[in-house]
Amino acid sequence: MVSESGRLAKAATQTSKTIREEVTIIMDKTHALRYRIAPLEMSPSEFRKAGYRLVDQVAELLCSLPERPVAPNESLAALRALLGSRSLPELGQDASSLLDEAADLLFDHSVFNGHPRFMGFITSSAAPIGALGDLLAAAVNANVGASLLAPMATQIESQVVRWIAELIGYPPDCGGLLVSGGNMANCICFLAARKAKADWDVRTVGMYMETSRRLRVYTSLETHTWVQKAADMYGLGTESIRWIPVDQALRMDTSALRAQIQADRTEGDLPFLVVGTAGTVSTGAVDPLPELAAICREYGLWFHVDGAYGALAAMLLDRGDVEVPVDLRGIREADSVAVDPHKWLYAPLEAGCALVRESGLLRDAFSYHPTYYNFDQEDTTASINYYEYGPQNSRGFRALKVWLALRQAGREGYEGMISDDIQLAQELYRVVETQLELQAFTQDLSITTFRYVPPDLLPGSQEIESYLNALNAELLTQLQKRGEAFLSNAVIGETFVLRACIVNFRTSLEDIEALPGIVIRIGREVDAAIRPGKQKDPERNIR
Ligand SMILES: *Cc1c(COP(=O)(O)O)cnc(C)c1O
Repeated sequence: MVSESGRLAKAATQTSKTIREEVTIIMDKTHALRYRIAPLEMSPSEFRKAGYRLVDQVAELLCSLPERPVAPNESLAALRALLGSRSLPELGQDASSLLDEAADLLFDHSVFNGHPRFMGFITSSAAPIGALGDLLAAAVNANVGASLLAPMATQIESQVVRWIAELIGYPPDCGGLLVSGGNMANCICFLAARKAKADWDVRTVGMYMETSRRLRVYTSLETHTWVQKAADMYGLGTESIRWIPVDQALRMDTSALRAQIQADRTEGDLPFLVVGTAGTVSTGAVDPLPELAAICREYGLWFHVDGAYGALAAMLLDRGDVEVPVDLRGIREADSVAVDPHKWLYAPLEAGCALVRESGLLRDAFSYHPTYYNFDQEDTTASINYYEYGPQNSRGFRALKVWLALRQAGREGYEGMISDDIQLAQELYRVVETQLELQAFTQDLSITTFRYVPPDLLPGSQEIESYLNALNAELLTQLQKRGEAFLSNAVIGETFVLRACIVNFRTSLEDIEALPGIVIRIGREVDAAIRPGKQKDPERNIR
C-alpha cells in the first residue's frame, strides 16, 4: 500500500523539472524507485472502497438469485460483442470501475449454479463463506507447496484432509491433498496405484519396456470419463481399460469382473487397478464396493473408489432417517478415494480431494528432491510439503474455503443438507410418478431421471423411442434456454432422459413441485413443434 508521504514525494518529483534536464531525469528515476508506486498497487482507502462495494454487489446478487433466470439465453456472438474486439489496453484503468464492469458482465450473463432451480450436472450451490475464504486466501497468497512457505495453511489443509476422511468413514491418518476437482483427484490415485502395483520401476523406466506386462484397469461402463484421460495421459492407453458390464441397477457386474481379471492373468497381463464408483455421474448408482474390495484383496489389486459425487453420502449411513446405499460402507476398504468438496461440501470451484490409505504410497508416486528446495530439515511427520504428494508445485490455498464451510455447518449441518438434497430428489421421483405425461426412470442418491411422453404415444417401438429421444433432447435445450429451471440429461441404455441432480442447499420443496409443470408445458410445445405430421395447431397446446 502507498503511504501519503510517498504520494507527496512523487508529486514533488514530478514538479522538480526546472533543474537541468539530465539531473532531473536521474533524480526522477531515483525518486520514482525510492517512492515506488506500481500500477497494480491500491491505497488502503481505494481497496476498502472497491472491496466494500463489491461485497455489497455480491450480497445483492445472492439474495436476487431466485428472481433471476437460471441461465442466460444469448449467443456467444452477442457475448463477444459485449467485450468488443479491442486489443490489450496500453494504459491502465481505475480498479473500482473495472470491478463494477466485471460484476455486471458476470451477474447478467452467467449460469447460476447457486440458483434454487439449478439441478443440472453435479455442480453445487457454493457456500458464501467459501467466497469470502477465497478472498482471504488470495489476500494472504500462501503457497501451499511447502510448509516453509505456508506453515499455517499447510496445517489447515492437512486438518481438512483428515476431516473429509472422517466424514466418509475412511482412516483419518491416510495421506491426501486438495486438488482442482474430481478428475485430478482420481488421476492422482491412479498414479499412486500405478507406482505401487507395476512390478518394474515405472517412474524411472516409463511404460515402455520390452519385458513389462500390460497393466490392466477394471471399471464399469458407467464410470466417469476421467479414467480414459488417466489411461491416456499416463501412457497406458485407453485399450488397457476393461469395461465391465453393469446390471439392471447400473452397478458393476462382479462375476464379469472376476472372469475378466482371470482371463487377463492367463494372457500374461498385469491386472493392477479396480475402480468402483460411489455415485455414478449419470444416475448416482453405487457399485457393490464391499464385493469389489474383496476381489481386489483376493487378486492383490489396488481398489480405488471414485466418490467424487457420492462418497460424502456415507456420512448418512448410521442416521436412519434417510436411506442411502449400504454399499457405501465399502469406501473404508479402498486403497484410495477421490472426493469432490466442490460437489457435496458446497465449496466454490475448484476443490477436489485425493485420499490414499497409506500416505507413504502417495509420496512414493510423486516425490523428488531437487537441490533448490531445502525444505526437509524438519521432522517430515510434522511438516508436510504438498509438492511431494501430487503433480503441482506452487499450490493455492483451496483448503481454506473447505475448512471454513466445514466449521460453519459442522457435521450435523452437512448431514442435514445432504439428506435434504436426497429427500428432495426422492420427492421429485414421487411427484413425477403422479404425472401422466412424465415417465420416471431412476432414483439414486440425489439424482432422479425421467422423461416427457406425450399421452397419445405408446413407448416401446423403435420409431416412437427414437422420436421420444429427439423430443426430450429438444425439450432440454428449450428448458435450459428459458432459464426457468436447469436440468441436464443421462442416456440409460438407448433412452435419453432428463436428469435432476440436487446438490444445492437452496433448492426447496416448492422448486421440486414446480418442476413437473414446467417440463410438461415445454414438452407439449416442443411436441407440437417437431412431431412429424403433427398439425401445428395452437389449440393442441392447451388440451
Ligand atoms: C464430477 C465427477 C467427476 C469429475 O470431477 P470434476 O470435479 O468435474 O473434475 C468424476 N467422477 C464422478 C463420479 C463425478 O461425479
